Amino acid sequence: MTSKRTQRILDGLEELFPDAKCELNHRNAYELAAAVLLSAQTTDVSVNKVTPALFEKYPDPASLAAGDIHEIEQCIARLGLYRNKAKSIQGMAKGMCENFGGQVPQTMEELVSLPGIGRKCANVILAECYGVPSLAVDTHVYRIAGRLRLADEGDSVLETEKKLCRRIPKERWIRTHHQMIFFGRYLCHARNPECGRCPFTDLCRYYKENKNGK
Ligand code: SF4
Repeated sequence: MTSKRTQRILDGLEELFPDAKCELNHRNAYELAAAVLLSAQTTDVSVNKVTPALFEKYPDPASLAAGDIHEIEQCIARLGLYRNKAKSIQGMAKGMCENFGGQVPQTMEELVSLPGIGRKCANVILAECYGVPSLAVDTHVYRIAGRLRLADEGDSVLETEKKLCRRIPKERWIRTHHQMIFFGRYLCHARNPECGRCPFTDLCRYYKENKNGK
């Protein structure tokens, strides 16, 4: 059963971000998988600037797997770490071609067997493309879960995911994931969170330790 505390957080997030959604532009699971890999240590806005040309040139796993690595690098050269990222998305595409008939698999186990795809990325694909209830823990979700005591300090990413999934009703996992990301992106920033317009100050570990009475 959802605690009153958790329910208050869920209601507050719903009020703040009723329209939260995935901000990585994509038209199918292949495009989302590549976009998530490209989004490491950069913003979704930056990724969205390079993916239209990338997906025009490489519209499916087979074309990306067979592509020239230098040309793939050129397509995404505006992103940091673009050489590693080119290698990573091509490795993923090769895995899809060699083991899954050029398709994006639909289970966690199969997704994480692909080069470059970790649990977070797999959860995003499962939720976004296949509607499987999942709660991916990225840097925003991790930070907010800790601040709002939905997880404990020092918990691993996996422990945080398990605690969130225990505390939040399954039918809210996908929505809450997007809303926590929006909350972290647009209000509860890593540095200088905007606590003045936050409805959760009385629930927040960070506020208590850093801002209460200051
Ligand atoms: S009080 Fe501040 S740090 Fe805590 S959740 Fe709200 S914005 Fe984030």
